[in-house]
Amino acid sequence: MNARIAIIGAGIAGLAAAYRLTEAGYQPVIFEKEVFVGGRMSSKNLDGFIVDKAAYTIPATHKNLRRFCKEMGMKRSLVPTPGTYSTFSAGKEYKINIGSSTQFFKSELFSAKSKREIIKLFLYARSLGKSLNLAKPRKKSFKLEEQSAAEYLSNNYDKQILEYLAYPLFCEMYLGTPENNSKLAFLAALKNLHRLKIFTLEQGMGSLPERMARTLDIRLQTPVIEISRTVPQGLFEIKTGGENPEKRLFEAVVFAVPSPIVPEIYADLPEALKECFLTTSYAPSIVISLAVDRQYPDTSMINSLLRKDCRVLGNIIFDRHKGPHRVPEGKGLATAILCEQASRNLFDEPDDVVISEVLKEMDFLFPGFSGRLIFPKVYRWKYGAVQPRAGLIYKQASARKALKDELDNLYFAGDGLYWSGLEISFNTGIEAAKQIIKKMGKRKRSKS
Ligand SMILES: Cc1cc2nc3c(=O)[nH]c(=O)nc-3n(C[C@H](O)[C@H](O)[C@H](O)COP(=O)(O)OP(=O)(O)OC[C@H]3O[C@@H](n4cnc5c(N)ncnc54)[C@H](O)[C@@H]3O)c2cc1C
Repeated sequence: MNARIAIIGAGIAGLAAAYRLTEAGYQPVIFEKEVFVGGRMSSKNLDGFIVDKAAYTIPATHKNLRRFCKEMGMKRSLVPTPGTYSTFSAGKEYKINIGSSTQFFKSELFSAKSKREIIKLFLYARSLGKSLNLAKPRKKSFKLEEQSAAEYLSNNYDKQILEYLAYPLFCEMYLGTPENNSKLAFLAALKNLHRLKIFTLEQGMGSLPERMARTLDIRLQTPVIEISRTVPQGLFEIKTGGENPEKRLFEAVVFAVPSPIVPEIYADLPEALKECFLTTSYAPSIVISLAVDRQYPDTSMINSLLRKDCRVLGNIIFDRHKGPHRVPEGKGLATAILCEQASRNLFDEPDDVVISEVLKEMDFLFPGFSGRLIFPKVYRWKYGAVQPRAGLIYKQASARKALKDELDNLYFAGDGLYWSGLEISFNTGIEAAKQIIKKMGKRKRSKS
């Protein structure tokens, strides 16, 4: 049970792996380059405002993660949100409850023709059944991902559907655009929309990782900079930098970092896998928390902006919908998530430039907003979300197969081999732990 296991990355994937391994009696060591745990599932209390730095929702479809929150004694913190959703077009707001078909039919955002076409698309998506399961793709799934969503929609449907439905959907769910993502990814997202309920963690999304971390051996500010294999023992030598530069030997390693980082630190990966990891494309993402000295009581929880109106903003979340303790009495908190193009363009710009660009558009949507500002806080994610581009799901399916067959005592968790979402990362972490437990257990028995 004292097998030396290293986990690289203390995001939800690495923590899930470590948690299950610890339950099974192992003592894994987690290396984390940042000063905090949770990665893209983290939050911070800033002067009484609970700020989510990236992920902000747990949809009802995240069944394992929700069950786990309960297992961790966080049943009461897992709160449903009103699921209100607005699209702004030319400054006018169109509001619905997510999943309400009645409100969708009444909405004035879409023309009658577009509404008919959306229903057709939805029925088509449903008829595709299991081919839309991106985690277990079939031959038909690969066919569906040959085309981009934009190409498919512009060739067959009213332009409104591309701009008012697909663009906000990709912006919100994949932090990307219909041009850079596949028809398959679009249909898969559309299929589940009608039954989407959204939960969040009242004390901040980071409260789950923080609770998990309490019983784990985590080395913060300790980036792994290189991994090599010793000969002839076949152990992994892990070299760390940051606060704790050292070299240590481990029997097994779990990579729980965005996939392009894997070949950067482990040069001995088989070429085909290296290529797959490097070409898994992530959109960068910039998130800005904007605390203000007044409430915006009538706003929806999620607000999508269209690219004809907004060059910078993709979505705005009003955080008071996430629970009564999120925002101090009488104050407001808006979390702005930049659209993909703006995240790319502004990624290396100083905070004041990013903030000024965001506030210009906030003032257009909510006149006087910038005058009420208490503080802005910028978060940048180089690896924001995997882009399910045409051809990616096929590549990933082959890579996952190769990982199972080829690599001894190396395990992979995180969103890189599927798509971004907390449930995926959580599941892959649990799966990595299960594989280790299965293998180490067998090895122990065969030795005795
Ligand atoms: C703006 C935004 C909003 C999102 N909203 C949602 C949402 O509402 N719901 C949802 O389900 N998903 C959402 N996602 C996606 C979700 O956050 C991610 O898919 C998920 O959190 C990824 O978890 P992970 O553990 O795989 O990776 P990460 O959270 O990225 O964890 C990887 C960890 O590895 C560390 N690390 C990296 N390199 C090294 C190194 N060399 N050595 C040591 N440590 C290292 C990182 O610091 C990080 O802590 C969102 C993402 C973004 C960016």
